[in-house]
Amino acid sequence: MHFDTLTGRVVAPWDPGYDEARLDYNARFDDIHPSLIVFCETVQDVEEAVRWARRHRIRFRIRSGRHSYEAYSILNRGLVIDVSAINHIDYDPDCRTARIGAGAQLIDVYQTLWDQDQVTIPGGSCATVGIGGLTLGGGFGLVSRQFGLTIDAVEAIQMIDSRGSRVDASPWVHDDLFWALRGGGNNNFGVVTEFAFRTFPVGLVTIFSLQWPWSQLPQVLRTFQEWSDPDDLDRRITPILTLQSKQAGHVSIIGEFLGISAELEPLILPLLALPNRTAESIQEMTYIEAVKHFAGLGADPHRWLAHGVPDQDTFKNTSAYAYRIFSESAIRTIQDALSDTPGPSCLVQLGGFGGTIRNIEPEDTAFYHRRARSEMQYQAYWSDPAAGPAHIHWVEQFRRAMLPYTVGAYVNYCDARIRDWPEAYYGRNLHRLIRTKRRWDPANLFRYPQGLSELS
Ligand SMILES: Cc1cc2nc3c(=O)[nH]c(=O)nc-3n(C[C@H](O)[C@H](O)[C@H](O)COP(=O)(O)OP(=O)(O)OC[C@H]3O[C@@H](n4cnc5c(N)ncnc54)[C@H](O)[C@@H]3O)c2cc1C
Repeated sequence: MHFDTLTGRVVAPWDPGYDEARLDYNARFDDIHPSLIVFCETVQDVEEAVRWARRHRIRFRIRSGRHSYEAYSILNRGLVIDVSAINHIDYDPDCRTARIGAGAQLIDVYQTLWDQDQVTIPGGSCATVGIGGLTLGGGFGLVSRQFGLTIDAVEAIQMIDSRGSRVDASPWVHDDLFWALRGGGNNNFGVVTEFAFRTFPVGLVTIFSLQWPWSQLPQVLRTFQEWSDPDDLDRRITPILTLQSKQAGHVSIIGEFLGISAELEPLILPLLALPNRTAESIQEMTYIEAVKHFAGLGADPHRWLAHGVPDQDTFKNTSAYAYRIFSESAIRTIQDALSDTPGPSCLVQLGGFGGTIRNIEPEDTAFYHRRARSEMQYQAYWSDPAAGPAHIHWVEQFRRAMLPYTVGAYVNYCDARIRDWPEAYYGRNLHRLIRTKRRWDPANLFRYPQGLSELS
């Protein structure tokens, strides 16, 4: 097989740097060995790569930031079309819009937009997540109740389709594709190369963090659910509740407020009234300082800014949505799961929905679960490989035990074990997505195990 017609930096198994080039953020998938990785530097490189894969009938995957929970952006014996080098961030101060290459990492997006005009887009908290994968699945973060999901700020998308040709999608041209890419776009319709975003001015924010002993879990969870009512809670606050394992010993609520601390304090009174608090922090800072705080950037932020191999973690995460306030039996189920964990780093998080996320109808973009009260993420982390199976089993058992009380799952927190993933991820938008897939990728060139290719 000749690959001399592929353009961009091509890395094969015998090349220096192959081992770095193939890795996913999740070390659980370190044994995946693609046949070739092409680091596309231009849109033309992407066109060549898609045409080459099609001509030679080579299986391939698309990759931006390498953070897929199930390593769906890499594969054994196939081509990886990597767009991480298409990472420009071009801001236009007159219209306050930004054209961003699909390979840009979130921290670069936030920093550049802040430096240029103190503006931002609503996105996730991890510094090295790719804007490509994040946006195509929805994109939730700590300013989402005010500014919406990442897709809600998208004005236009540029994509290379299954013929290897450039397509522009927006409300005015190819609006069916534009609809589908906003929530159902991961590796389904083409290789996205650029997004046009509208941006939002930001300045001073207040971040807060409150912690209680694990024994307070039922009370904290009940209060959080009532307080974070999607319609009533001030949309300038986006909160996250973290229920750690009993072994870890605590539960906490953190959040970001787009305003000053004097305004925040009355809004979180129900949380402050909860007894036995073990830690409390309420701090005003600039928006970009808050970004770095939630990204966990340590003393050496440059470590994160460098493109290349992301710091790895070994984990199994999965998801669901809470559409209703949990009953006492749901709370007991959560307590039981967290009291019997294979290690201390097992937890569940609830991210508050509502506000602007809810202003858009579930059928208006492919992202369906806008009516949820919160998104839920079950998580387990470990370092000893021998501990892997027990942690994976724990996550799966927890997710299953909660099924009577939850709905669906988030495609960006994808989980290979969810059997009814099409309905779980896409709800009532599934059939329209399948129709759009048939129109835009009739040969099912873009495939992966939880892709629309498996349904059409
Ligand atoms: C540590 C961590 C923190 C996270 N935090 C958040 C968060 O705060 N909020 C949130 O919403 N999500 C969060 N996520 C989930 C994240 O949104 C998804 O994992 C997302 O899909 C990652 O995108 P990526 O480009 O980094 O990953 P990749 O592995 O490169 O891609 C993910 C998926 O998108 C497809 N894809 C990637 N690029 C393209 C493209 N250009 N065109 C078409 N398809 C493409 C891939 O084929 C793959 O299926 C987090 C994940 C991790 C690991």
